[in-house]
Amino acid sequence: MTGPEPAALEAADAAVRVVPEAIEAGVLYVVSTPIGHLGDISLRALAVLQGVDRVLCEDTRHARTLLARYGVRTPTSALHEHNEARSVAQIVAALQSGASMALISDAGTPLVSDPGERLVRAVVDAGARVVPVPGASAALAALVGGGIPAHPSTILGFLPRKGGERTAMIAWACRCPHAVVVYESPARLAHTLSDLAAVAGAEREAVVARELTKRFEEFRRGTLGQLAAYYTDTPPRGEIVIVLSAAPPAEAPTDADLRLEARALRDEGAAPRAVMDALMARHGIARNLAYKLAHDT
Ligand code: SAM
Repeated sequence: MTGPEPAALEAADAAVRVVPEAIEAGVLYVVSTPIGHLGDISLRALAVLQGVDRVLCEDTRHARTLLARYGVRTPTSALHEHNEARSVAQIVAALQSGASMALISDAGTPLVSDPGERLVRAVVDAGARVVPVPGASAALAALVGGGIPAHPSTILGFLPRKGGERTAMIAWACRCPHAVVVYESPARLAHTLSDLAAVAGAEREAVVARELTKRFEEFRRGTLGQLAAYYTDTPPRGEIVIVLSAAPPAEAPTDADLRLEARALRDEGAAPRAVMDALMARHGIARNLAYKLAHDT
């Protein structure tokens, strides 16, 4: 992690003391933390983390490093994907009896491909207040620095690893008429870029944003074909976000076009199931129409 200079730490510490946040009883604060550069935390976030009764964190050891850096000594508890379901009732009860809590994740904004959704839902359902304390998110940083039109856009998070769910999600992303943000691991980057290229076409523009806010921050821009080739040859390190540009407006294919395409796929040796998947991925047509085309031709 990159960190702020000692003078900046002192200034932040002083600001927290000078501008304390009025912490409300019974409130769950959802607090964003840095995605790399430790300076990317707001004064309000620090004041909230300092003022609440307890900080709920994805990984208590990881959180303590961040909290210690700013002299925050609030007690912590773990809230992660493995205990969220069973911890929620207890947390809601504590809030209802007047405790104040902050939820943080390991990096960035909780609930964005991170735990917290169940808890926030339960707190809302119980009629208690949820107060966001916004800040860093890798998705927004990638959109802002990537150079691909960012509005509107969809934050997809991680793609399913394999199977029909992955195929369907990639098809959806490639058809999207606006930018789509995908989180990916370095080991799977080249594979995912190739999968996207196979559906969106190798010429579709994209950006790979790597190590955002950190020392080796990099934006690599190009077509999916170029990026897939580059990262196949040059395996990347670090944390990665892909921003896929919008699908160009497509003219809807006629029934005759679809029948011809299905027949061509069958002639190439594709099984009906593969024909169906290809037609749905390319044109977003309904499953029953794709089934009919794949079997009737
Ligand atoms: N909640 C986080 C947020 O708001 O950005 C995202 C959490 S998700 C579990 C972690 C993924 O976010 C990483 O695998 C990577 O894809 C992306 N990510 C997080 N930090 C990043 C960074 N500094 N640079 C690029 N991508 C990052």
